[in-house]
Amino acid sequence: MKVSVDPLVCEANAVCVGIAPEVFDLTDDDELEILLPEVPADQADKVRHAVRSCPKAALTLEE
Ligand code: SF4
Repeated sequence: MKVSVDPLVCEANAVCVGIAPEVFDLTDDDELEILLPEVPADQADKVRHAVRSCPKAALTLEE
């Protein structure tokens, strides 16, 4: 499973970071960084939750 972000859509509000901090982080410049673009199996549920919860629909999941 892979997760990616559209940086033009993301507003860096950190909703995904709060749900899956092992996978998502914000840089000092307020840009979303994906720490684990190849999502480990034990993070899959949290990442799916984060993708559904993004208020900007900026995250894309490839199963
Ligand atoms: S929840 Fe969506 S808009 Fe917010 S930081 Fe994550 S990807 Fe960006």
